[in-house]
Amino acid sequence: MRVLNWTTGHFLENGIENPRLDAEVLLARSLRTNRLGLYLEYDKPLEKEELTEYKKLIKRRIKREPLQYIVGYQEFWSLKFKVDRGVLIPRPETEILVEEALKVFPQDKPWSKTINILEIGTGSGAVAVTLAKELQGVFIIATDISDRALHIARENAKNHGVERHITFLKGDLLRPVRRRIEFFDLVISNPPYIPGADFQRLEPEVRDIEPRIALDGGKEGLRFYRQILPQAGKHLAKGGWLMLEVGKGQYQEVSKLMEYTGDFLPPSTVKDLSGIERVVSAQKKDKE
Ligand code: GLN
Repeated sequence: MRVLNWTTGHFLENGIENPRLDAEVLLARSLRTNRLGLYLEYDKPLEKEELTEYKKLIKRRIKREPLQYIVGYQEFWSLKFKVDRGVLIPRPETEILVEEALKVFPQDKPWSKTINILEIGTGSGAVAVTLAKELQGVFIIATDISDRALHIARENAKNHGVERHITFLKGDLLRPVRRRIEFFDLVISNPPYIPGADFQRLEPEVRDIEPRIALDGGKEGLRFYRQILPQAGKHLAKGGWLMLEVGKGQYQEVSKLMEYTGDFLPPSTVKDLSGIERVVSAQKKDKE
């Protein structure tokens, strides 16, 4: 399709990272089909309304609106998650956080009790929903300070049929659970961790359009770890786990902060596919 080649060129000139892919996804959306559908009807000319719609989507992308916000979803752990400008787009590296969490609760041996999990700052709900899909007998509390995010997260939980397993609570970090007496087997979070000074180096999609509140970790990017770490241990059951996603080069500082609390056994880290230490985990000490 000539229109695809034209769009690809136009995107390329405007610095869009995957010009051909984006052109195809947006054209498919305008034609109410998928990318395969495009090629099955390769020679069919566009109707006027289809072209108008397509042009609108192209303009949005040129303004560096992420493709995921335009189409309204992102895949994570092979599940489809609704997203809009109110939530961070789930990143592939966060699947590593989920993977590590799942290792704590092997599903081949039956668990005699409910697995209690706290997710801090759930955003689109991708982590909580995926854990709820993968784990038998799980009960998750997922917090977020943003009403808009909680709305999307609830919708995602419903779309994946796990709404009975997750309670979404509004509030800052662990605040919504501060008076609750249950102990969690896992506290998990992908908090905002981008250092203030790094924002100018980010792609415009992230810097200008994704919610700053979900990305900005203060001066060194460590602000939320400093708030979460002293409290997390108190909410964990004996032998429970704390798992945090961290930004590039932050694992040492976060591990140190974990050790300072005195609540945990020595932490370990896991690298993502680009070799960046991405997840820091530690088990709560069994002390009396
Ligand atoms: N990984 C995200 C990014 O680099 C940041 C996510 C976060 O701050 N938790 O865009």
